[in-house]
Formats: sequence, structure tokens, C-alpha cells
Amino acid sequence: MKELTDYSLLYHNTFGMDVRTAHFVEYESVEELCAFLKQKNYELPLLHIGRGSNLLFSGDYQGTVLHSLIKGYEVVSETSDTVDVRVGAGEVWDDFVTYTVQKNLYGAVNLSLIPGEVGASAVQNIGAYGVEAKDLIVSVDTVCVSTGELRQFSNEECCYAYRKSIFKQELKGKYIVTHVTYRLSKVPVWHLDYGNIRTELDKASCPLTLDNLRRIIIRIREEKLPDTAQMGNAGSFTVHIYRYAFLSGRRRLRESSCRMDDRPLRMERKIVGTCRSTRPSGVGPCQSGGSYRKGNHGSCRSSCCFGKGKVWY
Ligand SMILES: Cc1cc2nc3c(=O)[nH]c(=O)nc-3n(C[C@H](O)[C@H](O)[C@H](O)COP(=O)(O)OP(=O)(O)OC[C@H]3O[C@@H](n4cnc5c(N)ncnc54)[C@H](O)[C@@H]3O)c2cc1C
Repeated sequence: MKELTDYSLLYHNTFGMDVRTAHFVEYESVEELCAFLKQKNYELPLLHIGRGSNLLFSGDYQGTVLHSLIKGYEVVSETSDTVDVRVGAGEVWDDFVTYTVQKNLYGAVNLSLIPGEVGASAVQNIGAYGVEAKDLIVSVDTVCVSTGELRQFSNEECCYAYRKSIFKQELKGKYIVTHVTYRLSKVPVWHLDYGNIRTELDKASCPLTLDNLRRIIIRIREEKLPDTAQMGNAGSFTVHIYRYAFLSGRRRLRESSCRMDDRPLRMERKIVGTCRSTRPSGVGPCQSGGSYRKGNHGSCRSSCCFGKGKVWY
């Protein structure tokens, strides 16, 4: 286990914020994590991060930041049609997608190139191109922050909804994900009717294989979103866009009448651009706020200049 003090989070967030945390703890096993939580001798507040691709720090963090280095893939059950793979929370999400493609397993390919780690996929219910993590998740293994005890959540217990789970709602900050078990299909399952996937497949006139579909999805994504290495960002802000519209001119609209999925990309770009313009040198103190599809901080434009030392996620 690595324990550091006054540690820079520059390489732990995709906005590239050069903020510091009072304590940084990186663990490699469930045992290490349980032992750390049980000794209760850590500085609060506690924040667990993955790759920081859905976080925005607006200043130094006066607490303890935890990060998982739990790795590994284990086939835990198999039928003639499906394979259940249990994956360490510290694995990079896209490495897992690569693994499924290499093993000719169907289900995850549409989620290619989503930044972040496996642990966060179960918290965020990541989704793209008509597929969500919840469609694949069988169970989520966790450790309770207050007791250090293990608990497994079934898919149903995770209460998945659009980019939401129980870990972002009622149990926010209360459980740490250590492993996620995904069910993949050995028989072909395609999701091709979302966005321009079919058009791009036709254009490429290549056979429909997992490999080719992954290549096409990666190409579409790279055209749409800026590379975080070039420009700090947290992906698109679909829910923010809805909130922006809701807060800044459409107060009459009831939440239930808004459709989050269909907000125009034009505004999405504007918000990403706003984030960029408040951080001209690439790193430095954050003056804008945002969080990917979180939805209750307003847009970057309407909620600039959050207090220092906060983290939005
Ligand atoms: C360029 C870009 C494109 C993106 N595209 C998409 C997309 O297409 N679809 C999509 O859904 N998202 C997308 N996102 C958002 C982001 O990739 C996801 O939200 C991802 O799941 C975040 O993973 P992370 O490891 O970086 O988590 P972080 O940002 O570090 O953390 C996110 C949340 O998960 C919690 N968390 C992290 N790890 C654990 C753990 N082990 N246990 C408990 N809680 C944990 C954190 O506390 C926080 O609440 C995009 C982001 C970027 C920058």
C-alpha cells in the first residue's frame, strides 16, 4: 500500500487540475483496503477516485484520496452462451473492453474508449451507443467504508438508472467497489442502431466483427470529443445541458417533461469550451464547475467560481 502526503493529483484527473491532496492512499488488494478502513486513523473527508474523468477539483483537497490498484480478470462462471468475468476495480475500463474483443465476447464493444476504471463503471453506470454498464453487470463487490466489511450487491440492488446507481445516490461515499462481475455473450449480440454506427459501417464496407466495430466506435468518439491529453474535459455534459436550459430560461418546464438524451451537441461544445477558457494555461486553479451527467451544479457557465477546495462528481 502506498501512503503519501501533500500529493499532486495532476495525473489523476482529466481536467488536468494541479491540485494537491493532504493524503493519498493507493491499495492493491481487498485485504489492504479493509485493514486501512478498519484502523479509522485517516483524515476525513474520504474520496475514492478512479481515473478522475468525471471529477472536477476546484482546489486542494483537505482529506484523504483513495485509489484502487486491484487488478485482474477471472472467469467465475460459464454456460454454452455466456461467460461471467470478475474484474478488479483498478483495471482501466477500455482494457477490459479490449479483453472482451480479443476473447470474442459480445456486449461491451459499444462502450469502447470510455475513459475511467472498472470500479467507476459500476458507480456511474457508464453508457454509450445504446449500451450501458448495467446491461452487463451481474454483481458488484464492495467494502463498507464505516465497518471495513465486505458486501456484494446484485444488479437489482444497485438501482441502476441513466448514469446513476445506488452508489451515487443513497449510498454515496459509503461503499468502495473492489470488483465488478460482467456477463458477456459468446453468441453475437450487436447494437448498431444508435447514432451513425450503421452509416460508418457501410462507409467502411468491412465485415461486421467485434474488432471492426470497436475501430469504428473509437473513430466516431475521437472525432466527437477532445483528447483529454490535449484539452482537459470530462466528456459530454448531457444532464448539465438539461439543467442549464432548465435553470436559465425555462423555469416553467417541469423536470419530468425534459428529455436528457436529446440535448444538442452545440451546447455541449459550448460548455466544454467554457471549461477550457477558464483554464488557459492547461493547469491551475479551477474556476468553473461541472460534472459529467451529474446534473445539479448548473452548467459551467451558470456556476463558475465554485469555492476553492471542493470536488464535484
Ligand atoms: C473524454 C471523455 C469521454 C467520456 N465519455 C463518456 C461516455 O461516453 N459515457 C459515459 O457514461 N461516461 C463518459 N465519460 C465520463 C467518465 O468516463 C465516466 O464517468 C467514468 O466512469 C469515470 O471513471 P473514473 O475511473 O475516471 O472515475 P472518477 O471520475 O475518478 O470517479 C467517478 C465517480 O466514481 C466514484 N468512484 C471511482 N472509483 C470508485 C470505486 N472503486 N469505488 C467507489 N466509488 C468509486 C468516485 O468517487 C466518483 O463519484 C467521459 C469522460 C471523458 C473525459
